[in-house]
Amino acid sequence: MKTASRTFTTIGQDDLARAEWCAPDRYRDLRASFSAPNSIVQGAGLSYASASFADHSRTVSMRHFDRIIAAELPQDQDWGSVTVEAGITLGKLYSFLISRGYVPSVCAGHPQLSVGGLIASDAHGKNQFREGNFCSLIEEMKLFHPDHGELLLSPASNPEVFELTCGGFGLTGAILSAKIKVGRIPAQCVEQEKQKLVGLEEAYKLLQENWQRADFMTSTHDFGRTADIPGTTVLARFHRGDGRKETAEFEYPKLNPNIEPGNNSFVFNLLSRFRGRSSPANSMDNSDPIAPLRDYLFSPHTDWSYFALHKDKIIVQHQVLIPANAVDRYLNDLRTLVQQGEYDISRTVLQIFRGNHKLLRFEGDGLSISFDVPRTPKSEDLLKKIDALNVAMGARTNLIKDNRIDQKTVKAQYADYEEFRERLHTFDPNRRFKSKLSERLGL
Ligand SMILES: Cc1cc2nc3c(=O)[nH]c(=O)nc-3n(C[C@H](O)[C@H](O)[C@H](O)COP(=O)(O)OP(=O)(O)OC[C@H]3O[C@@H](n4cnc5c(N)ncnc54)[C@H](O)[C@@H]3O)c2cc1C
Repeated sequence: MKTASRTFTTIGQDDLARAEWCAPDRYRDLRASFSAPNSIVQGAGLSYASASFADHSRTVSMRHFDRIIAAELPQDQDWGSVTVEAGITLGKLYSFLISRGYVPSVCAGHPQLSVGGLIASDAHGKNQFREGNFCSLIEEMKLFHPDHGELLLSPASNPEVFELTCGGFGLTGAILSAKIKVGRIPAQCVEQEKQKLVGLEEAYKLLQENWQRADFMTSTHDFGRTADIPGTTVLARFHRGDGRKETAEFEYPKLNPNIEPGNNSFVFNLLSRFRGRSSPANSMDNSDPIAPLRDYLFSPHTDWSYFALHKDKIIVQHQVLIPANAVDRYLNDLRTLVQQGEYDISRTVLQIFRGNHKLLRFEGDGLSISFDVPRTPKSEDLLKKIDALNVAMGARTNLIKDNRIDQKTVKAQYADYEEFRERLHTFDPNRRFKSKLSERLGL
């Protein structure tokens, strides 16, 4: 098995590591690649946090394990299932399913993300309030750990390890394959009902009042120095459109998170292979209310302008889940912090979340707020104040997104931190799987 030395970075380019890398294409080689004392699995390698690499460790890429193994997609029922290798991208899975009248019911924002990465981060889509997080779709999965061999995980088989692996940042081992529940869809377009409004409170109210009549919902705001925080709330529902069907082929601009050999300038590497065009259907301000489902689901991240915003900048993505009972106080204090600091934050996205919270997963009942900011001394200062606000209000930061969070902060925000750590060490006393994220969080 061939290995190479590589420099890894995050999608926001705020962290670097030099580590060994390999991309086996046979199961025998995949298992052998975990013989290194420390390793970590990589899906697409597109996280904002340094979750799939660590200095002096080995990153094992799953990119060659991307087959569809089995599918049950009845045309007379609402749900089916598909079993896939964990390196498959969301886009490849989506393309396979859409022509059969199905989609993954939870689609995170970019088609290049891998199923393994979505399980390990328990990702969410624009319909979290309706379908929950990605792991709620996992019926069973196969996990490989060098000290345990291959394990079948499900709520009935090895339930403890199943629970730890869902949103477990790849620290329990390599997910080889997963059986995923998938939903039959009524149409391949969505109709978007847009409402322009000012103020985050107004948007939250609108989202709360309307979640039962929407299939998907978000509200996007420019959070700046003026008292107004203008934005647009979009409630989207499945719509037959003009009856047009999506083509099975799914072309989208590919992101490249790896620092290529010979390129040590660390400019926004992603754009080196990013040749996308901004299509009207991808745009946040799209005036056509009817959009193809995939343009809607993967917007704005398949829109060139989103990444162009970040060109040559080191980016932090901060996403926080505010408990329902603290939302009003939180928004008021957040507004004061941003406006006192004279900071402009464009594209602040609000989403309603529903469900229970467990371990280190980004889930629960409340309001999610996320935004990207260039990492500067001024924004670092603001983010530190926001971290303190989060702790004071019982809000939790999404650990797969914000690469600054330290152990003290995660302990203060996540009541189950010690439980996660203890259970992980019981399952894997040698702690074979490590990343910069796990080291930073003391896991
Ligand atoms: C443009 C963009 C849009 C995004 N939109 C959303 C969104 O809408 N909702 C959301 O929740 N998140 C979103 N994210 C975050 C993203 O879902 C997670 O960071 C996800 O983990 C990335 O998948 P990946 O395949 O790149 O994983 P990687 O970055 O390669 O790895 C992430 C983690 O998963 C682990 N992992 C990957 N594969 C396996 C495997 N086979 N077995 C065990 N562990 C594994 C890694 O060890 C690592 O800990 C977005 C990220 C980007 C860059």
